[in-house]
Amino acid sequence: MNICQTDLPLDWYQTEFKPYAEEYMRLPDRRPGTVLPWLDRYARPALEHFGDALLLVAHFYMGGEIVKLVERYGGAVSDSYQLALQAARNPHKKVIVESAVHFMAESIAILAHDDQSVWITNPKAGCTMEMLAKDYMVEPVAEQLIERYGERLLVIAYMNTGGRIKALAGRTGGAVCTSSNAPKIVEWARKQGKKILFVPDQHLGRNTAAKLGMDLSKVVALPDPQIGRGGFKVDDKTVAGGLAALDAAEMILWGSFCGVHTVFSPAHVQYWKERGYTVLVHPESKLEVVQASDGSGSTNFLWEAVMKAKSGERIAIGTEGHFVRNAREQGRLRGVEIVHLADIPDPRFQSMGCGCATMSRNDPPHLAGMLDLLRQGRPPAANRVYAGDVVDEESGALDRLALAERAQLIRHARLSLQRMIDVTETGTSNV
Ligand code: SF4
Repeated sequence: MNICQTDLPLDWYQTEFKPYAEEYMRLPDRRPGTVLPWLDRYARPALEHFGDALLLVAHFYMGGEIVKLVERYGGAVSDSYQLALQAARNPHKKVIVESAVHFMAESIAILAHDDQSVWITNPKAGCTMEMLAKDYMVEPVAEQLIERYGERLLVIAYMNTGGRIKALAGRTGGAVCTSSNAPKIVEWARKQGKKILFVPDQHLGRNTAAKLGMDLSKVVALPDPQIGRGGFKVDDKTVAGGLAALDAAEMILWGSFCGVHTVFSPAHVQYWKERGYTVLVHPESKLEVVQASDGSGSTNFLWEAVMKAKSGERIAIGTEGHFVRNAREQGRLRGVEIVHLADIPDPRFQSMGCGCATMSRNDPPHLAGMLDLLRQGRPPAANRVYAGDVVDEESGALDRLALAERAQLIRHARLSLQRMIDVTETGTSNV
């Protein structure tokens, strides 16, 4: 899976976006001083047209020009949890344009008011971890586990899931979690004596179990969903130890992972530690990397660590490349040196820190085109995001639910989100 990326080929753009891509390709370079004024030509008229009703939002992992533009126009740049709340918390914003991956836009849509519309600048911008946990991959397996374990089984859906999986969590009495509140959510489920199906990230699931001191022999990972596109039969051949191992498991992990966060190894950690750096990593990294490092935590945890570091401190960060680049700029202003954990200037390592290439599919031509097409009143229907939408990130094919099914999905997905909020804030939930 390629995780580093430059310009997209022209044939990757929807027809409506090609004129903007052709203009962008004719720009002399990709420096902010060139790209930002070009983006402004489309952003300003759209902002004047929609006034205060327009909200631009982007994730921390987006490239520099998009983040700068969104910040300049009073938009929100944040992690996936804060993004999800943007429509609900800003009812006066009627048109929300998101530059991040699809599940994040869908989370905004799940919580949005009826008169708000959510748009993604490129619907093919998917999260690789979520791409390996589509409903048609997970649900047939979850159904077999529910048949075997009945109401003892509860699904915890990491924020990096589509709405259909969040609804599955809601239906089974489970909750959504983020990388920072995962330990609280898992503890809440364990206190109820539940067996947990943790979807989709096996590494966050395992790291959370280790953090809570759970017996890791009772944390069992399901097969690689890349083989046969999930949907496998649950029998004695499913995992090592067969059905007995699944029966004894406290937590069953879906087998997905993030291509960006699994490039790190304990050797990377050791390299920087030997040179006096503090090493901090995201818990989507492998267990052995987390255990070798000085600390692990969510995007917000990593950002706070940079902001609180004192002049002269040196930190190696293991997470997405654009985030580390933005952190490096902030650190430099205060005399703090930030490096990317995989950027090792030694040919024996042959590694480099990359950005989230699929999120970067929301490039400047997509943002320019989305804003201009919305202003002209002819936005492509495929860029509208509704709760329950499933997009094939290769072909762009869209599976959209009928109204009644969507309403039901929203009810269940909101339940799982509400339980997360309740448990995070009070330790329990009554919904
Ligand atoms: S960095 Fe990884 S987990 Fe995050 S959005 Fe990109 S692919 Fe998904």
